Amino acid sequence: MNTEIFEVENFMKSRPHVVILGAGATVAAIPHGDKNGKKSSVMDGFIEKLGMSDIIKNTNIQTKSNNLEDIYTELSERDDCVEIINILDQKIRDYFSELAIPDNPNIYDFIILSLRNKDIIATFNWDPLLIQAYNRVSQITNNLPDLAFLHGNVCVGYCRNHKQGGAIPNKCGECGEYFDHVKLLYPIKNKKYSEDPYIKDNWKALRNALKRAYYVTIFGYSAPTTDAEAIAILQEAWGISEERNFEQFEIIDIKEEKEIIKSWSPFIHTHHYDIHKNFFDSSLANYPRRTTDVLFDRTMNCKIINPLRKFDPSMSWEEVKDLIDSLVSEETDQKDNFLSSDIVHQDDMPMVTKTLPVQPNNKFTLDKLIEKLLDAKKHGVLGTDPVNITYLNINGDKEYKITNVIAINTHEVDERGGSVTLMIDME
Ligand SMILES: [Zn+2]
Repeated sequence: MNTEIFEVENFMKSRPHVVILGAGATVAAIPHGDKNGKKSSVMDGFIEKLGMSDIIKNTNIQTKSNNLEDIYTELSERDDCVEIINILDQKIRDYFSELAIPDNPNIYDFIILSLRNKDIIATFNWDPLLIQAYNRVSQITNNLPDLAFLHGNVCVGYCRNHKQGGAIPNKCGECGEYFDHVKLLYPIKNKKYSEDPYIKDNWKALRNALKRAYYVTIFGYSAPTTDAEAIAILQEAWGISEERNFEQFEIIDIKEEKEIIKSWSPFIHTHHYDIHKNFFDSSLANYPRRTTDVLFDRTMNCKIINPLRKFDPSMSWEEVKDLIDSLVSEETDQKDNFLSSDIVHQDDMPMVTKTLPVQPNNKFTLDKLIEKLLDAKKHGVLGTDPVNITYLNINGDKEYKITNVIAINTHEVDERGGSVTLMIDME
């Protein structure tokens, strides 16, 4: 293989996949409650759940809201509520510390195992499920992603003197002292992420990964309007979406698509995004440990990829272990070569290929066409079996009914023209 081409491809595939988790991820992970049937909190009505209603009532609080964010914001602005804030903080720690991950393989296990040590998971959640999952899946492999806790966490500690962090009750590797609890940051408007050294370090790790990221997945996080500071940091690291035309942005959320697009539009380059309501439809579940390899093969090599080694919600631990063992051993064997990404060989396909030159005055038509294709794809008209693939003649007047979009490769197109390859199913 040509060395230069190998270097470029290898570089792209080795870039990080960044996964950002919000409260919706925990809700999706334990929809029927935790191991003991305990539900994860929602911000509304949380004060009652913590048994804080009477204490809060006695402070003559002005807000009529029962939302933790509103109540905390007011308390934190008053000098006479320091003690109450401490009680609230302790109650929140007690509440979340009790949450326990169910025994069967959980979405949190799958998220961690779907990534490699070049990747990072950054979470806004205080609950201990991610750490609990990390501890048990590290018995399957120790090639796992970094973790970052953007709002602190109830079971993570830190040594301020040596800037080391870890699960509680572990000790600092330098001084042998137990880690201190880390601060919990509350969902209020001015969080000051740079004030606490532990939180600052975690944000720094996320920023660094985001700058180099090839794939970004946002799962159940929807704070953009209330968390202006977080969004500003993310946006600064990601840069402007127009410069991110090779990268892919993926969102897993049960909210309406329109609302999601509105929140994340500054991060999304025209067509390079996917939205899934269910984790098991995401790249993480379909291409575990191969997400960046698949992205490159699909968009740059125009290969057709079928998810053959994927996670399934009903998997037993034994099945999970078998799958991960096979992927990890391939990673070890293929250290100096590309990892396979379950490519369906093009020879197996009935396929007509033709590449068509794009004239400058067709650029608008091309954009419209791609928009239409993606729209069809999003509205689920489409099956997943890649058959009857052809390149579409975009200069022709003939109307095609698109039934599947396999890949769109427009990286060679600019205002002077160029060529575009569209891989689609149609009738
Ligand atoms: Zn120390």
